[in-house]
Amino acid sequence: MRADAAGLQAMEMSFLGNTLDRQSTRRGDTAYITGLLEKPGTEIVLSTAKTLVFPAGETLAFGHDLQAAKALGAKQEEMVFLGLRPENGQAVFATTLPQSDEELEEKTDLQIRDLRTLALQNSFNPQDLGALAQARALIHWHRTHQFCSQCGEPSRMAEAGYRRDCPTCGAFHFPRTDPCVIMLIADGDRALLGRPARLPEGIYTTLAGFMEPGETIEQAVRRECLEESGIEVGDVRLISNQPWPFPANLMLGCVGEATSVDIEIEDDELEACKWCDREEVWQMVKDTHPEGHKIPPSISIAYELILGWLEERI
Ligand SMILES: [Zn+2]
Repeated sequence: MRADAAGLQAMEMSFLGNTLDRQSTRRGDTAYITGLLEKPGTEIVLSTAKTLVFPAGETLAFGHDLQAAKALGAKQEEMVFLGLRPENGQAVFATTLPQSDEELEEKTDLQIRDLRTLALQNSFNPQDLGALAQARALIHWHRTHQFCSQCGEPSRMAEAGYRRDCPTCGAFHFPRTDPCVIMLIADGDRALLGRPARLPEGIYTTLAGFMEPGETIEQAVRRECLEESGIEVGDVRLISNQPWPFPANLMLGCVGEATSVDIEIEDDELEACKWCDREEVWQMVKDTHPEGHKIPPSISIAYELILGWLEERI
């Protein structure tokens, strides 16, 4: 059970448990980082553009050492240092592989897994799932930021993976985390839930959207809610937050009070949006809804916001 998010007593929300000691002041010490990389027991998380690549076996483990990673085509100069395991001081790195998932699937000594599925299946303990989220977000950034955004020339990894430097114009580039508001909007005993078309059939969830430059969290909640549903929002409270590595978001979980009730879907974000009373939302949670409507799975902050509201904890 996590203890750092006010108001919620979540048991299952994913990606919160990363305990790696990031050693952030030592990333520029190349000899130190190289020493860790070559040390016996060091683990390397391998990733493609879409998935994570583990050694074959009954139990999933990060598993690969430097030699095994290099044998698959990983480059030593592209290793991202994630941190040290607090229990034994062993280092964990992550890097990218050049092959496609299809090419790797032919290798019988590997298993190719998607992080969302790993979270849904509870395949790793919370600490390791958190570390995998860190790995996926950083690898995605490196894969999509190979060139300098100021001069267009190739950039290269620095600071053990927490910066990319441009040797042509001297610019430094830093990894992105994109804040995203996600909000349970209530009108007394009713909650506003919407259906984005991208979600599986029947799923209704809290509204959400990316923050814009120059906005406060509260302003972003009000703007997104108005854009997506036509509902105006008054008071907003930040309740919780969650790293969401698809690819590199930070979800800011809020509750807000509606000051209007007439729903109007004006943009193409939602295919449906409705006010749901507590009884209907309980049916969605318990999978007894007459029309088969459901809420998102418990790995998500949306689930926590909806349950928190139902149980009057937030
Ligand atoms: Zn440049």
